Amino acid sequence: MKFMVCPQCGILNFFIKNDKGERLNVKVTRELLIIPIDESKSLEGFDQSIVFCLGCSWYGNVNQLKKYSIS
Ligand SMILES: [Zn+2]
Repeated sequence: MKFMVCPQCGILNFFIKNDKGERLNVKVTRELLIIPIDESKSLEGFDQSIVFCLGCSWYGNVNQLKKYSIS
């Protein structure tokens, strides 16, 4: 599976937040689907309109992700 990478630092680990400020670590597929890294977790209640990079200060909508990893 191909995953989108951060436009600023190039890693593929992101997180999203819910209204309590809790974080959920996710990856974004080539099809721009957000999936939890821990498959036992649910996306329910988390705001999927903004993803935050785990490696740098970048955050934005998944539609702003243009590159993906080939691995
Ligand atoms: Zn980054």
